[in-house]
Amino acid sequence: MKLHEYQAKALLEEYGVPAPGGQVASTAAEARAAADAIGCPVVLKAQVHVGGRGKAGGVRVVREPQEVEAAAQGIFDLSIKGLPVRKILVAAAQDIAGEVYLSILVDRAARRVVFIGCAEGGVEIEQTAKDTPEKILRHEIAADDLPHLTPGAVRSFAARLFDDAGEIDATAAIMVKLARLFHEKDCSLIEINPLVRTADGRVLALDAKILVDDNALFRHPDLAALRDLDSEDADELTAKEQGLSFIRLDGSIGCMVNGAGLAMATMDTIKHFGGDPANFLDVGGSSDPRKVVTAFRMILKNPGVSAILINIFGGITRCDDIARGILQSLEAFRVPVPIIIRLIGTNEREGRALLEGTALIPVATLEEGARRAAEIGGRA
Ligand code: GDP
Ligand code: MN
Repeated sequence: MKLHEYQAKALLEEYGVPAPGGQVASTAAEARAAADAIGCPVVLKAQVHVGGRGKAGGVRVVREPQEVEAAAQGIFDLSIKGLPVRKILVAAAQDIAGEVYLSILVDRAARRVVFIGCAEGGVEIEQTAKDTPEKILRHEIAADDLPHLTPGAVRSFAARLFDDAGEIDATAAIMVKLARLFHEKDCSLIEINPLVRTADGRVLALDAKILVDDNALFRHPDLAALRDLDSEDADELTAKEQGLSFIRLDGSIGCMVNGAGLAMATMDTIKHFGGDPANFLDVGGSSDPRKVVTAFRMILKNPGVSAILINIFGGITRCDDIARGILQSLEAFRVPVPIIIRLIGTNEREGRALLEGTALIPVATLEEGARRAAEIGGRA
């Protein structure tokens, strides 16, 4: 789960990392009121879950109170990488003397947590990483050591970001706090870009992105409550609520499978035969026909779907229950594309009998199903 910048900054502040907050506005008039309360100059920042807001015009420093409303309206009118702007963070503008990049994340390959730093932070960090990868600094930590990190252990890292002794100490202290936050809140990423030094020698997090491991959210009801349903994929959320796993993809073949492993194998096999899956969908191990109806609804919402492959290997899942779900779906909505189905395992005979007389195309193996789906559904 992604936190918005204003939420991430509040969490950083809670852990003692200086991250000047501000007020969140939902209208231009609210932005003006917030700016009046904070005092100009202020910075207006679109709260959307994508990077590169600055380059897209979503971050603006405003010096005059009477210019705030128009500037805020300009940001509300933007769509940043396809996302509408519903909230703007209004914060006191800082007098920036230098910008660096600092993040902490899980490095799966190294099986460690790693700090990443770069003395040239700001909006060009991706380009810097590409052109001059030697400028990207790493400091690895075993996950178990996160709560015990000391400033001394990271001071030399901090000294490669800033020159001033006070700023180096401040940065090392920030890194210790980040390690504790990362550990206690089950984060997979905390990214501060830019971490700035101000003209008067303070070190501040001016932008923050935090990802919390979804699988640990049950341990953090306070963080789970921050979830911004408006800015997540509505279908993926509906799926989660109903016990399905659904991920939208770019292809043309809708997939409905039981079990995550089988779902992945199904997508691989479709690819092997030249097709392109439109989604990942695991209906789970239970036998609730309603899940099948929900699954159909989600697959059919995608206008790019030109065929559906259902691949059910019945174990705990009973094929007759799946078949009932399919019949209910065919009654509930018009399915305008061919459906190929492989239905084997528990109660397969009963399942097949229920589907007799429908237009479904039965196949015996995954290979055959994937090949037919690729032939009928074509490429995206
Ligand atoms: P991003 O483009 O989505 O990463 O948004 P950021 O919050 O990182 O802002 C982009 C850039 O705007 C920063 O790198 C700064 O150069 C600038 N910026 C952000 N906040 C302030 C501020 O308070 N004062 C000034 N002068 N510039 C700011
Ligand atoms: Mn940034």
